[in-house]
Amino acid sequence: MHRSGFVNIIGRPNVGKSTLMNALVGERMSIITHKPQTTRHRLIGILSDDDTQIVFSDTPGIVRDPTYKMHEAMNKFVNSTFEDSDVMLFVLDVHETYAEEDPVIERLKRVTAPLFLVVNKIDTVSDEELQTVIETWKAKIEFTEIFPISALKQKGTENLLQVIKNTLPEGPEYYPKDQLTDRSERFFTAEIIREKILLLYRDEVPYSCEVIIETFKEDPKRPLIRISATVYCMRETQKFILVGKNGAAIKQLGIEARKGIEAFVGKQVHLELHIKVKENWRDDERMLKYFGYEE
Ligand code: GDP
Ligand code: MG
Repeated sequence: MHRSGFVNIIGRPNVGKSTLMNALVGERMSIITHKPQTTRHRLIGILSDDDTQIVFSDTPGIVRDPTYKMHEAMNKFVNSTFEDSDVMLFVLDVHETYAEEDPVIERLKRVTAPLFLVVNKIDTVSDEELQTVIETWKAKIEFTEIFPISALKQKGTENLLQVIKNTLPEGPEYYPKDQLTDRSERFFTAEIIREKILLLYRDEVPYSCEVIIETFKEDPKRPLIRISATVYCMRETQKFILVGKNGAAIKQLGIEARKGIEAFVGKQVHLELHIKVKENWRDDERMLKYFGYEE
């Protein structure tokens, strides 16, 4: 018998959803940094063996208080994951709290698919504290099962994976068995550049940027990829910061991003970066479409 299905990972930003997906799928697929909301798009990771195929989907995270159109679009991704799951993983940071009237709780109560509570970051609490958290959640919602784990230390993740496999329904291969994700190298290239922006710049600058890959061409003669990318920011002052004194900052960004992309694609990379100002792209429907914030 062949089992397969869609496993959706939901939870607030920064609880460890991407870390968990990487631990389960075993490939570096999502950007992981300390800043919340690094994953703005829904991302799938496919884990296949001879008799199972699991399609994990890492969502951008539930934003509590959508202030921009971008956040609304992100929450829409999350809502759609409630509807097409074979298994739902609700990831909780062991330290976070939810108010009794939080809409997410109401939403979770209506989930019909098997619903697993994944209590993450247990490496940071005592057993007693963990037990208290588990008891509190047991009283709120009827979960199919509860898994205390550390995604970072890969504690409890193997067991979680085993239970997921046993829970999946009988089903076909949805993707070729050697496929890891549905996104292109181009997509990851943009994500890697965004990751480096997050690491190199401060305050609101990283959150005001979006990256578009203009060209992504393999050199026909050598193992080399030629990439040209545009970083969109919202104001001239941000452009000034991005470029830096005598272009020092953008040069650093170029070097860091190139290294990251080379490690990912396993080839030499020639990277060209441009910076453009596009005011208020976060509130502009057309720009959001252009940047791919839709299903
Ligand atoms: P996401 O926003 O839900 O996708 O969260 P990330 O996977 O990006 O993780 C957010 C932060 O939590 C990162 O700094 C991770 O290293 C950290 N983190 C994730 N899992 C664990 C864990 O099990 N233990 C600890 N201590 N930190 C973790
Ligand atoms: Mg994430």
